[in-house]
Amino acid sequence: MRTIVSNHELLPKGLHLENLSVETGRVSIHVASGASGARCPLCGRDPSRAHSRYSRTVSGLPWHGISVTFQVSARRLFCDGASCERLIFCERLPEIAVRARKTGRLDEASDRPAKS
Ligand SMILES: [Zn+2]
Repeated sequence: MRTIVSNHELLPKGLHLENLSVETGRVSIHVASGASGARCPLCGRDPSRAHSRYSRTVSGLPWHGISVTFQVSARRLFCDGASCERLIFCERLPEIAVRARKTGRLDEASDRPAKS
């Protein structure tokens, strides 16, 4: 029997799988952003073009006791708003806060009291 699991059930929203590596005690999931809907945080305008990509390492929920990290490739985008002071901005990721070192799911799980 084959079960199909949607991307959004396994990965943080807005990210797609590029590669997966399994090492002793660690799973590293390489993902990239690229969903439409990114907007300049200053003026709210749609970006017209991509500038570059940058990489972030973010911890996710452990999988059967094995640590999971996401290697996230996110975009830097140009804002072409004539009156906007922000020339380049980094896109926001729905489940990963700015400068966060862990996913929203891991953050929520860390806040829950442990079962006794
Ligand atoms: Zn702008």
